[in-house]
Amino acid sequence: MLNYIALLIPLFLGLTALEWWYSRKRNDNKYSMPNTVLNMAVGAIDQFGALLYLLLLYLAMVFSKAHFQWLTLPNDWRQWILAFLTVDFVSYWYHRYSHQINLMWAGHVTHHSSNYFNLSNGFRTSPFQGLFRIPFWMIMPVFGFDPLVLVITFKVTGLHDFFVHTPYIPKLGWLEWFIVTPSNHRVHHGKNEIYIDKNYGSVLILWDRMFGTYQEETEPVEYGITAKYDDHSPIHAITFHFKVLFMQVCKTQGMLNKWRILLMSPGRGVVYLGEGMAEKKHKLVLVNGAIRYAFWLLATGVIGFIGILFTHTILPTFTVGYCFFLAVGNIVQSALLLNQSVSKEFGFWESLRLAGFGLFGYFLLDSLPIFGFIILGLILVSSIWFVSVRVRFLG
Ligand SMILES: [Zn+2]
Repeated sequence: MLNYIALLIPLFLGLTALEWWYSRKRNDNKYSMPNTVLNMAVGAIDQFGALLYLLLLYLAMVFSKAHFQWLTLPNDWRQWILAFLTVDFVSYWYHRYSHQINLMWAGHVTHHSSNYFNLSNGFRTSPFQGLFRIPFWMIMPVFGFDPLVLVITFKVTGLHDFFVHTPYIPKLGWLEWFIVTPSNHRVHHGKNEIYIDKNYGSVLILWDRMFGTYQEETEPVEYGITAKYDDHSPIHAITFHFKVLFMQVCKTQGMLNKWRILLMSPGRGVVYLGEGMAEKKHKLVLVNGAIRYAFWLLATGVIGFIGILFTHTILPTFTVGYCFFLAVGNIVQSALLLNQSVSKEFGFWESLRLAGFGLFGYFLLDSLPIFGFIILGLILVSSIWFVSVRVRFLG
């Protein structure tokens, strides 16, 4: 079931490409190539954690049900309806605390730090975000919910989240009253004074209306976060607030004060240390050859990633892992190049990565001759291409 949802990724990529094309046609600056590829790289990294965290989430709920179950629910459609309402209610509070507790914000800020708002934002989620969800979800089995019903409800309703990240759909009339729409979710991503900490709902916006956090879209939205931050690498996007917190905690005296830093609201007390951290570390002007190489990595990475989604059940586990790391590495390196976040050592690391995958693949793919031939052929093309552009962007 959950694998079927993963198969929707090509559809989401297709819709993002369509929206991008529409934006280019209108020349309205709703998309930027470096930002979009960075969002895709963050999403690809997130897939590492996604399966592990879903398993942890499920096991935590099974544990909770086995030891703390208090009520019993009917095992029919009524449980599904109740599960939808409960999952959405818990999601509201989980999301609200993700904005109001520093440590949780460190996992969620990745989704908010983009200065652009479009469908590719749906991919931009940190692997740490899911971990903080676990304690919230453990409450539900206490009331008798089957953990499997909860996980399926959560994954299916989660699809709604992708479609609300669009700048193009206007207000939807009466729907604005009770569901999360693109308009009221744009407000959630705004850093305008009136939009901060508003509209936390996942599917139903009713919770925001009930608990006083609803805000209608009344002025053009300025996207991003108020902290000083620049996109330059997917790893930085995922870790930057953790680094800020770590430095702040190290600097703070007393255990109680250190905990206070982690649990207080991000808006209060945390000084953004090391302003330089928010700047691009390396700014090299890339020649066209390097940019074309970045597009080659992106195309092979995305095609490889989709290929794994469709073939992972028939390929040996090690081969799936190998291809997955290779594809994600391609997308991440492409994002680094397009965001001009490369240092002079990039050449060394990229050579090492290609040589490592080539050598490892030579032995690993021995039993799959045609498949191995294609993969090793692609690595060889990348290596030759990279060597030919390397001198130019280093110089
Ligand atoms: Zn949020």
